[in-house]
Amino acid sequence: MEIDGLYSILAPLGAEKDVSMAAHTSFRIGGPAALFFEPKDPAELMLALKKARELHIPVTLMGNGTNLLVRDGGVEGLVLKLGPRFSGFNLEGSLSVALAGTLLSSLAAATVRAGYMGLEWAAGIPGTVGGALAMNAGAYGGDVKGALQWVEYLDMPTGKIEKRQPAAAELGYRRSSFSWPERVVLRAAFRIEADDGQAQARMADYNQRRREKQPLQYPSAGSTFKRPPGHYAGALIEEAGLKGLSVGGAEVSRLHAGFIINRGGATCADVLALIEQVQARVLASSGVELTPEIRIIGRDKA
Ligand SMILES: Cc1cc2nc3c(=O)[nH]c(=O)nc-3n(C[C@H](O)[C@H](O)[C@H](O)COP(=O)(O)OP(=O)(O)OC[C@H]3O[C@@H](n4cnc5c(N)ncnc54)[C@H](O)[C@@H]3O)c2cc1C
Repeated sequence: MEIDGLYSILAPLGAEKDVSMAAHTSFRIGGPAALFFEPKDPAELMLALKKARELHIPVTLMGNGTNLLVRDGGVEGLVLKLGPRFSGFNLEGSLSVALAGTLLSSLAAATVRAGYMGLEWAAGIPGTVGGALAMNAGAYGGDVKGALQWVEYLDMPTGKIEKRQPAAAELGYRRSSFSWPERVVLRAAFRIEADDGQAQARMADYNQRRREKQPLQYPSAGSTFKRPPGHYAGALIEEAGLKGLSVGGAEVSRLHAGFIINRGGATCADVLALIEQVQARVLASSGVELTPEIRIIGRDKA
């Protein structure tokens, strides 16, 4: 099988076969990745992409797996994770420059510790810089679009590495042109400025609000649905009386109806069935169609 050919090339660099995706996602759900590899630099990343293409092996790219729901049959082919091995950052004048695998929360906290502000909104978002670019992640009035100075990425159709300022239209509400499979974010620079003396307090306040309002003690992928124009998904779900609704181990959080949580042993099938029920019942009660914010990957269990 071709996967063994790719394994023999990537195993010396740390690739492993049959790696549980539940262990690599904040939902703690998902079957195995046939082959799992964390490149440490662009050269390893490009080698893996090139060899996978030559061997006709499908590739999936992930960051910290905090916005992913992986199906129970796992992921075919190669899963590439840009995570801790592909991380690090520098403060360069008025810019905070980070590799794609850097945790956004670590970047925000380190930027504040160094006496700068501008990324406090990101302190509680558990994803990587690359995942944040791909989702245009945001919170508490800030988002990637508002802070991004430039992005360096691998353009998949041309195979070239580019570095530039994004155009306004390339980033929208939880939407971005800098996302797999079109592009792989390698590095990004965010604008920062001297701390006004309140950055630490703002960050602590945002984190406190999260601890009070979000079911952080349970595995989840954050907000399940996008915010529909003019509404809040959580409020619509709560108004439809769906807090606590469950399928198997998946439950609409009683603390924050916008989150589906894994109360223990939830399968992807449980979460998908619950998502469908929530969508149907919110549509019936309010006329509003909810669309998932989380990205669903992989294949059903045979
Ligand atoms: C408790 C909790 C709270 C959350 N709060 C927020 C919040 O306040 N605001 C918010 O916006 N989100 C929030 N999220 C969702 C999630 O953290 C963000 O969407 C985050 O940006 C995802 O980053 P990730 O590295 O985990 O990406 P992943 O989940 O691994 O991947 C998400 C998508 O990004 C793509 N991707 C990942 N890395 C790259 C890369 N280098 N280049 C190109 N594409 C890439 C993947 O292919 C995938 O399609 C929350 C999640 C949890 C669990």
